[in-house]
Amino acid sequence: MPVLPSAGIHEADVAVVGAGAAGLYAALCAAGERASVVLVSATPLAQTASYWAQGGLAAALAENDSFELHLRDTELAGRALVRRSAAEALVHEAPDRVRDLQALGVRFDADRFGRLALGLEGGHSVRRVVHAGGSATGRRVVRQLSALAVEEPRIEVFEGARAHALWTDADPTNPRCRGVACDDGRVIAARAVVIATGGAAALWARTTNPPGSQGVGLLLAHAAGATLADLELLQFHPTAVIGIRGREGYLVTEAIRGEGATLHDASGERFVDELAPRDEVSRAIQALLERTGERSVGLDMRAIDPAHFPNVVASLREAGLDPTRELIPVAPAAHYMMGGIVTDLQARSTLPGLYAVGESSCTGLHGANRLASNSLSECFVFARRAVLDALSREADELPAASERELQRLRELPAPAIAERSTRAALWNDAGVVRTPEGLRRLLEDPHPLARMIAACALARTESRGAHLRADHPERDPALDFRHVLVGREDSISWETWH
Ligand SMILES: Cc1cc2nc3c(=O)[nH]c(=O)nc-3n(C[C@H](O)[C@H](O)[C@H](O)COP(=O)(O)OP(=O)(O)OC[C@H]3O[C@@H](n4cnc5c(N)ncnc54)[C@H](O)[C@@H]3O)c2cc1C
Repeated sequence: MPVLPSAGIHEADVAVVGAGAAGLYAALCAAGERASVVLVSATPLAQTASYWAQGGLAAALAENDSFELHLRDTELAGRALVRRSAAEALVHEAPDRVRDLQALGVRFDADRFGRLALGLEGGHSVRRVVHAGGSATGRRVVRQLSALAVEEPRIEVFEGARAHALWTDADPTNPRCRGVACDDGRVIAARAVVIATGGAAALWARTTNPPGSQGVGLLLAHAAGATLADLELLQFHPTAVIGIRGREGYLVTEAIRGEGATLHDASGERFVDELAPRDEVSRAIQALLERTGERSVGLDMRAIDPAHFPNVVASLREAGLDPTRELIPVAPAAHYMMGGIVTDLQARSTLPGLYAVGESSCTGLHGANRLASNSLSECFVFARRAVLDALSREADELPAASERELQRLRELPAPAIAERSTRAALWNDAGVVRTPEGLRRLLEDPHPLARMIAACALARTESRGAHLRADHPERDPALDFRHVLVGREDSISWETWH
């Protein structure tokens, strides 16, 4: 017998899961369209990857820049795997999203003429990266957006609540996402659910990410029947601090290399173009470390004005390193999941009613190697698209649920959290260089996402972008624009995206 509304059920036009850049902005956009929103956030704000973002947002705003140039750089970095339609949406809309953020009160750094100051990062052919507080961009953006979300009467925030299952229609002929069940027993019935739970790089033992970035949203979506893709495509950031207690994996932003910092081997020689895309720089460092047996290379930022990157310099100093006098020991660390929940250009997943935005999604726009600072821009561009699409659809009746159904939802198992052994296994067996033996070992891991990552990495029998197979060191042109999909019961298939 349907009994809605009932105690413990909350109704909303949109339920957003995750309060990083993508989730906060989705919630604010929906509220701006006069929709009611429930925003579920498992962790305090400082634990989002968004809060930690240093460099900034890429947008073609400079006079010497253009959409075409931004698109070209994105495609070059993505190694013949970028879905052009998604990248076009990004480059065309990123400048407007920067202006929206300014209108919402985010203060980006300006030059002495009052124009936006634009930074340079690897793979960008011109200065294109909008930043705030030097390298405190994420912190500034997230603080402002979360303050607005808390004040917004249309947004109800479930802080400290963890989505543990998606509510889907039982009817197999008309599957649809109807809402979200939280671990505290609350259930949200919504016209649309937006997953914004971030990436999965913290599944790897050495990571630049906060501990919560374990791909929980991917597991929720997969369990509900949505398709995932490109899980083998995990970007390793070349310059994470290594061997320093309390700062293991701390990221030194690429923007510092953009201002002239250089990389050196043990004898002081430079060995790579520091502004090449990340896959190239990470591979060069990894190859050098394997050859020499060293643990790290040296990042020389002595010529950089510390006032331009105050938070990075302060963090290094707290760890006992003085970047104005000594080289910083760095090596690659797991940084960004290019794969995720498959979405179309309106951020719709393959399950009606379910959207995915930000790092949890796989729009295909990053291809096999994300261009630096395209991810924050993607959060804003696709969060807005998701919300506008969801609200443009005729409102379905909010779902009815019997007490039995609610009880079933509450009793569904929560997504797995990775043990230390899984994190070590991913680092060893699906690290910068992968072997078939290691990947087959990983297929036996107890963590479901680790197994799916291994299956995707085994399927891609080539090296491309972030995915480096020791047994297939070359790119296979037959796999250009081909993406590895994970469907129901972990079935693997391929699709071509343009
Ligand atoms: C150190 C660092 C520096 C970076 N610098 C840049 C940069 O300069 N430019 C750039 O473009 N990108 C950068 N990136 C990448 C970028 O920050 C991320 O891709 C982006 O911020 C992801 O945003 P998001 O909103 O998708 O996820 P996140 O910011 O990770 O937020 C995820 C949210 O989901 C919540 N959550 C997770 N699971 C659940 C659950 N089950 N229930 C409820 N809530 C849940 C988390 O608590 C969190 O609130 C950087 C990343 C790192 C780690």
